[in-house]
Amino acid sequence: MAFTHSGRDLETFAARIRACRLCRDALGPERLPHEPRPILRVSTTARLLVASQAPGMRVHLTGLPFNDRSGDRLRAWMNVSREIFYDESRVAIAPMGFCFPGQNPAKADLPPRPECRQTWHDGLFERMPRIELILAIGRYAQDYHFVRLGRPLRRGASLAEIVGAWRSQAGTHPRIIALPHPSWRNNGWIERNPWFEAEVLPMLREAVARAVAAQPERGALRGNNLAKATAKIAPQRPQSGVK
Ligand code: SF4
Repeated sequence: MAFTHSGRDLETFAARIRACRLCRDALGPERLPHEPRPILRVSTTARLLVASQAPGMRVHLTGLPFNDRSGDRLRAWMNVSREIFYDESRVAIAPMGFCFPGQNPAKADLPPRPECRQTWHDGLFERMPRIELILAIGRYAQDYHFVRLGRPLRRGASLAEIVGAWRSQAGTHPRIIALPHPSWRNNGWIERNPWFEAEVLPMLREAVARAVAAQPERGALRGNNLAKATAKIAPQRPQSGVK
């Protein structure tokens, strides 16, 4: 018999992630230079997962992901309102690194901390079996979710190759739709690949509309209820590959 996690498992697991200090407690140059603030929005009912890279400084300070021009563009691509996008009962948001990783000397954000993926991600997504659509934004999320679901990407595949292979995911479960980051820095890529707006976005909007149409169950843990519940749980030091 297959073991299935309950909503309470997800609540407890999310609390452990929110209390994580693994990178801050590291010794030497790997030590996170600021207090951790893991950012994730999950529920037992969401069917759509926005799988992103890592919070930037602004998200670290506010705690709200995609509350900027990139978020506006992503919502326009998805054709959803802010109300739907931030409804955790319908849309989960989980970056590959839950905490702002800091910046390099050139003031560019560092890559997502690998400790998150090594410690938390497999266990988190095991507890979210209702996810039926994953928007994989950026290469870190694409590499992880395609491999996790047994569909590894070709080594060295370009963004255009990965995003352009969207038809190969039709009929899969969960379905993965790979996207470029909605940052304005990708305007050039979008202009060079007009098929993205002509072919991918209509398909994306149709798939998102289906995924967010699902209604939450009564009593499901989400939003403030989940955050309140997680705040009551004492921090625990995570082990590598926590299940
Ligand atoms: S492992 Fe993830 S959640 Fe934990 S401190 Fe590092 S970045 Fe934050």
